[in-house]
Amino acid sequence: MFNKRMVTTFSLACIGIMLSTKTIAADTTVMVQPNDTLSAIGQRYDISVEALSDYNQLMNRHLIIPGQKINIPSERIYNVKMGDTLSQIAEKYHVDMATIMRQNHLQNPHLIFVGQQLYVGEQRKSVRNKCYRTPVSQPYITSGFGPRSFDGFHMGVDIISQTNDLNIYAALGGRVVSDLGWSWVGPNGGGGNMVMIQQDDGNYAFYAHLAHKKVVIGQRVSQGEVIGTMGETGNAFGVHLHFELRRYLTPYCHEALINPSTRLGIE
Ligand SMILES: [Zn+2]
Repeated sequence: MFNKRMVTTFSLACIGIMLSTKTIAADTTVMVQPNDTLSAIGQRYDISVEALSDYNQLMNRHLIIPGQKINIPSERIYNVKMGDTLSQIAEKYHVDMATIMRQNHLQNPHLIFVGQQLYVGEQRKSVRNKCYRTPVSQPYITSGFGPRSFDGFHMGVDIISQTNDLNIYAALGGRVVSDLGWSWVGPNGGGGNMVMIQQDDGNYAFYAHLAHKKVVIGQRVSQGEVIGTMGETGNAFGVHLHFELRRYLTPYCHEALINPSTRLGIE
């Protein structure tokens, strides 16, 4: 009898601890910026609009206003401890470093500090966006998007073809726009011959290091149309295509970049 009561008390105590832990765990709060949307915030933290909307008890998910606070669920908040490295944290959560950097707007993977709270969302799986086609035949990515040692951050993906076909095909239809001034932008300066397309999905696709361009500025291109051939002009080592996707052109910032793997479905 006595033992049974002990057990009951102990169980209740456990529940109490669990509840209080849940209550004190701090959420990450995001301040809504002008032109922000819930889906943009959701993309940043890899949380669905539905989950964010539910969690924040929003009446209307299309109506968020600048200055409003949106809470990101705390289950995947990591508090940086002495001696931690970003790669260890990434390994612990089975995500890659680029994911953590993107979600936390980190510019430098070596600059994290004790007590810093990092949000570690689920690793995105690269499922091909059915609207896109791959820009080269039988593509293989030789260098992925995200932080890398020799130039800080790779703003796109480097792709080669596993065939002899050097043609570059428009990943999505759109209009060829001026690449004037682009060779100097960002750490990837030296894109060589480039084609920039303002795509029908509103994003800008950036094809660099081309041997030959086969389109001109102002031209309308269809998806799959040959826009040039792969080369190694500019800062390139070996024939490949540097393919980059941006939400908008200026000002330059990491948030403007899209990991092309999430559209092309290749890692
Ligand atoms: Zn590249």
